[in-house]
Amino acid sequence: MKSVKKVVLISAILAAVTALAFAISSSKKTSEVYLNSQMLALIPQPKTELELGSKEESTQNQKSKKAEIIRYTVKSGDTLEAIAKRYGISVDSIAESNLIDKNDIIKVGQELKFPSINGVVYKIKKGDALWDIASRYKIKLEDIARINSITSLNDVKFGKEIILPGEAKLLASEVQNRDTSVRTATSRGSASTKSALSNAAYAGIIWPLSGRFTSAFGQRWGEFHKGIDLAAPVGTTVSAALSGKVVFSGYRGTYGRLIIVDHGNGMETYYAHLSKSLVSVGQNVKRGQAIAKVGATGRVTGPHLHFEIRFNSVPVNPLSYLR
Ligand SMILES: [Zn+2]
Repeated sequence: MKSVKKVVLISAILAAVTALAFAISSSKKTSEVYLNSQMLALIPQPKTELELGSKEESTQNQKSKKAEIIRYTVKSGDTLEAIAKRYGISVDSIAESNLIDKNDIIKVGQELKFPSINGVVYKIKKGDALWDIASRYKIKLEDIARINSITSLNDVKFGKEIILPGEAKLLASEVQNRDTSVRTATSRGSASTKSALSNAAYAGIIWPLSGRFTSAFGQRWGEFHKGIDLAAPVGTTVSAALSGKVVFSGYRGTYGRLIIVDHGNGMETYYAHLSKSLVSVGQNVKRGQAIAKVGATGRVTGPHLHFEIRFNSVPVNPLSYLR
């Protein structure tokens, strides 16, 4: 009948989308193309219930909830369990969305984000395509599109946060697997890096600026790129990604004008190729505070910010911690 026809039609559309996506990815040159917007528009958008396809008993009330990303400031007496209970979601959904361990102590004033339904808050990375995220996390493409009200290509942008519905723990283990290769590439100190990362103190690292993402962490042109590059015009304000103390401000080789901020517990952030520093060594800076201006000093091909996060001097992939 009608609904059967609909299912067949949807299957056909999804097959077409997948085929198209693979065709696009293999043609290489169109990495900015995420999904044909006309095809995306064909993905059904039911007005009422969310069908998450999970078998948990809790999905009964999950279904009727509006899926949205909640931002929450920890208050005195809060625990992860209490917050999870209040919002009717799993503790894992909160822990994994904030890259913290569920046994970690949360601090008053700490900012948490989590979905209003079980799942993980995911920030779209450079080169991410919706179909790729869907297959990677084994979630139906139409579920991601529907839950996040994605109806056009313009909704799938680098840096945008979306909800990946499902069991947070399983989703997070996928993320861990993907990052392992990068982390082991830096091997030295990886054990301490891991324990440092589970520290709630590091939750809330912010983007130093909103520039165009031009280069990823990892192997690049036969070298190891220790950070990420964000292109922005000379003079664009660079902000501290987290509160800390300035431990270096000056010229350093290929980095050009560089600022290093120490955040304690072995964590440092690097801001390179700057045109101007607004801070001096020994100065305490707050997260979000303007510390420098974008430049093109050192070894560069154009103005951009080179940004690194290091744990015990070992660079890690900033995209794994920026939220
Ligand atoms: Zn760089």
